[in-house]
Amino acid sequence: MKKLFNKWVLLILLAILVVTQAPFVYRRYQFGQLSEKIAEIRQQRAPSTPNGAAQHSEGRRFKDYKGVIHVHTNLGGHSTGTFEELIAAANANDLDFVVVTEHWSDAIDTAALTLNGVYGKTLFVGGNEIDTGDGDRFLMIPGSRDAAALRKLPTTAVIEKLHAENRLALVAYPGEFKSWDAEFDGVEVFSLNTNARKISPLTAAFDVIWSFRAYPELVLASSFERPDENLTKFDAIASKRNISLVVGSDAHSNIGFHLFGDDAGNKLVNFKIDDYATILRLARQHVLIDADKPLTVESLIDALRAGRSFIAFDVLNDATGFSFDQCEGDSLCVGTPVESRIVLMKDGQIVSEVNGNSLKYGPFEKGIYRVEAYLGQLGPPFDKMPWIISNPIFVR
Ligand SMILES: [Zn+2]
Repeated sequence: MKKLFNKWVLLILLAILVVTQAPFVYRRYQFGQLSEKIAEIRQQRAPSTPNGAAQHSEGRRFKDYKGVIHVHTNLGGHSTGTFEELIAAANANDLDFVVVTEHWSDAIDTAALTLNGVYGKTLFVGGNEIDTGDGDRFLMIPGSRDAAALRKLPTTAVIEKLHAENRLALVAYPGEFKSWDAEFDGVEVFSLNTNARKISPLTAAFDVIWSFRAYPELVLASSFERPDENLTKFDAIASKRNISLVVGSDAHSNIGFHLFGDDAGNKLVNFKIDDYATILRLARQHVLIDADKPLTVESLIDALRAGRSFIAFDVLNDATGFSFDQCEGDSLCVGTPVESRIVLMKDGQIVSEVNGNSLKYGPFEKGIYRVEAYLGQLGPPFDKMPWIISNPIFVR
């Protein structure tokens, strides 16, 4: 009798296991399908648009440089990543630049002591993630030895000081930001870290077991959601003054964006979920720099400040070659390197939408124009989550 009971318990447990795990086995199959579709789309890329293709706009020629903003190493705490690991990952990802934003320290100048200069093929810029006396957080680019002291100043004074020193102040964690009337330069409208915190730990745990080793970046990308609130807020500010938007990696290389471990290095699983090499593959900021000028800290900051850049979730396909320009006098022209659903917005409202490689709109009127391009052919969530988010063209 006892033996029979054990058998039933075992059978029930087995049934529960099958029922609970079946969806995750199916998800692994779906990740495989997604990976194949991404490869198919990549094939459509015209061979004449090599990476780094130059663009023409208003008589100027630009070159597209791709990189990431908002990366931490073990120098600034909350991270276990080493310089060597970060350099290897940036080079392996063919990144032109990495903006490292170390946390401030009272004892040392973390911006000066982190990676600065060219290592391999990548330019590293030492910045800081700073706090202000009003409890706001910014990415300061480049960083400064004053990073720690800025927490004693109100937000407006911090921005004034940064601007006097020709530094950028980008809003980090807009969900917790308060000083929306301040004159900051830009907003990190999408954060890989913030997005990952929305994932249910249970779903994440089973995805890690079934799919992570095979499709690490796709497991993370499948959780992407369009940052509706941040974009609405951004559009509202853009209607009043010029600002730019960026994507932040907030890469720590310390296990699952804090989901599966803690800062002390206690690990639930024996590999890094937020390995630099994986995170640096997901989302990039592409900046456009005059073709006859080199990529330097100064030219990078100028392009970011002027909004001559765009956000691209390159994990879905390298967006190098995307363009959004004024053309033929009073029209706006958009071009994407592969077929996508191109959406043109004016003051936050859709005014034109097309499936293809290009969109032309005109004559334009006064307004703030912004483009989002979607690879809806990849299926959900990418029908609602943009592949590319452009910076605005301001017609005032
Ligand atoms: Zn950070």
